[in-house]
Amino acid sequence: QTMSVADEKTVVRDYFNSTGFDRWRRIYGNGQVNKVQLDIRQGHQQTVDRVIDWLKADENLPGLTICDAGCGVGSLSIPLAEAGAVVYGSDISEKMVAEAYERAKNRLSVIQNVTFTAQDLETLQGRYHTVICLDVLIHYPQDQIPEMISHLCSLAESRVILSFAPKTLALSVLKKIGELFPGPSKTTRAYQHREADIVKIFRDNGFSIQRQAMIGTRFYYSRLMEATRT
Ligand code: SAM
Repeated sequence: QTMSVADEKTVVRDYFNSTGFDRWRRIYGNGQVNKVQLDIRQGHQQTVDRVIDWLKADENLPGLTICDAGCGVGSLSIPLAEAGAVVYGSDISEKMVAEAYERAKNRLSVIQNVTFTAQDLETLQGRYHTVICLDVLIHYPQDQIPEMISHLCSLAESRVILSFAPKTLALSVLKKIGELFPGPSKTTRAYQHREADIVKIFRDNGFSIQRQAMIGTRFYYSRLMEATRT
């Protein structure tokens, strides 16, 4: 069954405003979760930490404009704002941005350099020094990825950082096995993407890869890439 881009997005938005919101808010929190969720929480935290390490190493974070597209509960936006960046977080899910705002209020003494907006990344406008999009592409099939990345590139003055679930033989086998056992743990469809495809899309948009990392725990796999305008 093939779905239109609009249908695909509606499914994702509804999920992250309902069961997906509850599931991911807990994973991206610090309360009690099950072992699999704990592993995913730790893997995701490694991805966030790696991005922060990269940006801090450049020593130009204070005042840097950053678009965090698909910001979720603000796991990256909030620490970046804390480090002095001017952060524009946005997410397709109203519930996610509301939670991000609550967390920012609790963790930051003043909320002056971070905003959260309910908006899908396809309709974002403006220019930002850096555009970041972590663990969002996993929700979309390959045929929608070129347009999404092109749009993110058009918003970036200098750099795009994104992460995706890499398509490798081992992971494809794992996914197939998982599909043989559909159960209540099934969440949303997860799409993996080929690294070479992503690199080519960046190149077609005039970007080249600078830093990259592979983050992997038992249940969490994410390929992290930084691409800059050439
Ligand atoms: N980037 C965050 C992080 O790493 O903590 C959240 C990752 S979470 C797995 C995926 C997020 O992408 C969800 O909050 C979801 O609502 C959001 N999302 C999905 N499709 C989107 C779209 N088209 N535009 C903006 N956000 C989207």
